[in-house]
Amino acid sequence: MFDSLSSKFSKAFSGLRSKGRIKSGDIDEICAEIRSALIESDVALEVVESFIHKVQNRSLEQLEDLNKGINPSQAIFSIINEELTSILGGSARRIRLAKKPPTVIMLAGLQGAGKTTLAAKLALYLKKQGDTPLLVASDLQRPNAVTQLQQVGAAISIPVFAPEPGNGVGNPVDVARAGLKFAQEKLHNVVIVDTAGRLGVDEELMQEAIKIRDAINPDEILFVVDAMIGQDAVRTAQAFLDGVGFDGVVLTKLDGDARGGAALSIVAKTGRPIMFASTGEKSEDFDLFYPERMASRILGLGDIQTLAEQAKSAMDSDTTAKLESKFASGEDFTLDDFLSQLEALKKMGSMSKLLGMLPGANSGAMKKQLESIDDNELVRTQSIVQSMTPLERHDPKVLNGSRRARIARGSGRAVSEVNNLVDRFTQAQKMMKQMRNGGGLPNLPGLGGMGGMGGMGGAPGLPGMPGMSGMKKPSQTPPKKKSRSGNPAKRAAEEA
Ligand code: GDP
Repeated sequence: MFDSLSSKFSKAFSGLRSKGRIKSGDIDEICAEIRSALIESDVALEVVESFIHKVQNRSLEQLEDLNKGINPSQAIFSIINEELTSILGGSARRIRLAKKPPTVIMLAGLQGAGKTTLAAKLALYLKKQGDTPLLVASDLQRPNAVTQLQQVGAAISIPVFAPEPGNGVGNPVDVARAGLKFAQEKLHNVVIVDTAGRLGVDEELMQEAIKIRDAINPDEILFVVDAMIGQDAVRTAQAFLDGVGFDGVVLTKLDGDARGGAALSIVAKTGRPIMFASTGEKSEDFDLFYPERMASRILGLGDIQTLAEQAKSAMDSDTTAKLESKFASGEDFTLDDFLSQLEALKKMGSMSKLLGMLPGANSGAMKKQLESIDDNELVRTQSIVQSMTPLERHDPKVLNGSRRARIARGSGRAVSEVNNLVDRFTQAQKMMKQMRNGGGLPNLPGLGGMGGMGGMGGAPGLPGMPGMSGMKKPSQTPPKKKSRSGNPAKRAAEEA
């Protein structure tokens, strides 16, 4: 997400960081670098100029004071962070539920923007919050839009109101109106209406959206836009704002190589907040949009809060409570606990996406490591642990050569992989101990140089991660050579 913008920011700061005292020329220089980074990222020119103007003025005004402080470059970094957060919308805004249910949410946007996909994601998010959403299939234009909504709805167990087949058949305004009535009768507290887009902004599209809006009187109109279309996103947003009007924006396809232009221009140009971000094709690939967290990611500070929240929501509360109490009481972390962590990690989505939220993820070295992650490693690791008996999971010390050979056969993996997992698990156990004794979050195996991050409270699934042997760890020390008799792992490898 915003990779190239983020690396350019990181490059611009690296020069400033080495300076003890900052001169006005240094500020001009960093502003010029940031300016060209923003323009290359397709941010609207007026937004760039206004941003640079604010950063430059604030930095110059405070220059004397900044130089009196211990870390003037950090102070400039903070100004940039605040201004970036401000152009991303300042504070976060969420769906406002209507006083009298159902809350009606209408999705609008071009064809292919990701409305249907988003409808399901939003419904799933609301369902997890305890709401009872109904999806309404009013996109009767795009081929297969109705069946697509029915399929995604069924996959996440959310009812879909779809009385018309679509593909050009049926009246979308009638469907929207009937959907609302159906929701009232069946006591759904939220109705999400998927509407048809067109390939470009045209009069027919606007008229249809206006008629639907007037028929259902939505509490929230969300404009859904593909972040990859850059400046066009802003032009389309403007056309929808003038034509139909909307309350908030959803940026989709932020998992792609969006250059950042849309996110950084749309709030300033439309005056409407970005409320959600869509980051993949699956119904779980959905994030609440927090301007300050996004600014932090762009500036390479990572997004530890989101990471911790995702870890927490992927683990059920019983597992989290069990792990927390184990952690507090000093009990050993077992392979069963590790298995629950693996399940949770799988639910959290792609590993590279998750680790991309760590501070420094925009640096060249870290990016290379993230690219080398193989998500199938989790599945392989899981199959190894699942082939162990309850005793072995509880006490890996019993894993002698023949047990390891049996596990390897059972999981269809090599004995060396079983050995590797056990070694990494033992390392992770030690790390848990180290953390409990106040050492903070240790280096994650495979992430050399990223350690020492406090503030991960509530993310019990993250320390250790012994399963990630797919990541290369340049600084990893080679395993100690042991004698034949003393090493059951080696014996097992030889016997296999
Ligand atoms: P609609 O015409 O606005 O309803 O668009 P769809 O919901 O059908 O989305 C168009 C295409 O974009 C589909 O292939 C989706 O799977 C894909 N898509 C939607 N949202 C995302 C996203 O956040 N990331 C990625 N990579 N693909 C997405």
